[in-house]
Amino acid sequence: MAVNALDKAFGLLTPGALPAVPTPPLVQRRQPAFNEDGQKRQKRGGATLTCIRSRIFIALPLVLVFWSACNRGTTNRATTSTPPLKRAEGVLDAIAHIRANAIPDAVLNQTQCLLVFPSSDEHVNRSGLPGIASCRRDAQEWDRAGAVTFAGSRPSAEADLLVFLLNSSAPKALRKGHLELPSAAPGPLVQVSSVVAPVELRSDAVAYVRAGTKLKGAALGGRIRAEPDQPWSEQESKQYSAALVSFFNIIVPTGIIIHHTATIPGKGKVPASESEVDQYHQTRGFNVLCFGKEYHVAYHYLVLPDGKIEQGRPERCEGAHAPGYNSYLGISVAGDFSSVDNRRGSKGLTRPTEKQIKALIELCRKLRHQYNIPLQHILRHSDVAPTKCPGDRFPFKYLVSQVARVG
Ligand SMILES: [Zn+2]
Repeated sequence: MAVNALDKAFGLLTPGALPAVPTPPLVQRRQPAFNEDGQKRQKRGGATLTCIRSRIFIALPLVLVFWSACNRGTTNRATTSTPPLKRAEGVLDAIAHIRANAIPDAVLNQTQCLLVFPSSDEHVNRSGLPGIASCRRDAQEWDRAGAVTFAGSRPSAEADLLVFLLNSSAPKALRKGHLELPSAAPGPLVQVSSVVAPVELRSDAVAYVRAGTKLKGAALGGRIRAEPDQPWSEQESKQYSAALVSFFNIIVPTGIIIHHTATIPGKGKVPASESEVDQYHQTRGFNVLCFGKEYHVAYHYLVLPDGKIEQGRPERCEGAHAPGYNSYLGISVAGDFSSVDNRRGSKGLTRPTEKQIKALIELCRKLRHQYNIPLQHILRHSDVAPTKCPGDRFPFKYLVSQVARVG
């Protein structure tokens, strides 16, 4: 296989030869597979009805020939109408929307390249199962997607197949044109094993199949071959890259971290609303792309002095409030509860109000119940980082004791 062709396919061989696909600031992703599937069904149904109407006027042998032609025609239209990149994007989007399909952070964080082989009526050609490969440039950036084929044992012909390549040598192997995959282990799911330590991932790759809407781990082995052709546009490539970024930012919360807002630099006062925090965090570069939308606020919730709770980023979107703990939900309480930084209250509340604490207890109970969060996974920011947040006046022990009281 020509080196240049592969270089073009993966954009990696010559650093800087092809720029990495930047994450678009705001991407409106079309609704995923379910819409596309629906369109396919409508097309099939429409064509069939036309055939039935014609059948009334035509002799039976002719009808059978015509019927067969109609069905062949609609099948071909359905499978070729959706480009492979778009089908792969649909697979990722559909998986991300279902919590039971959540993939542990340990897998997502270690992934070097992701291979997606969407199911279709015409999935196997002579060279193998066609799919899409993308390798990571950094946390929020992926190289241009390339076409690949998979040849080997696989669990089901009817299912979408996803392979997460965890070994740092994977991008290089793909650049060279092929990757041996002697044994990809069945990938774990959050709902089965809520915490997966990186050391537990001993395999170079983990694989999943998606049959219907359900994702499950699957073992497979074979060979991945990089294809020189990229039958998609630059725009489609960018959109797929954004879908990847979004997919890898999805979490299932495993804990809660409590913060105080402190003051917004330059304003000297604690923020009065989520939008104020959002504006400030926008300047700090805490932005994240989740479910196709960009968020700036680093927390998931803000609790205001009157007990009102404002939503920050969605719960299933990775936080940016405590490095290393961003699968924990971030809840910020408006105020500056440090006796050093806000001794006499010149910056705002020195202690949380009763209403704030009541609302916070209820919110923590709800989230704990919803995500099965253990009590010891409710922490202060200062428990995981060198910071005073949420301040020595924050009644953390009381909070935990109250959250523990109701299961
Ligand atoms: Zn904090």
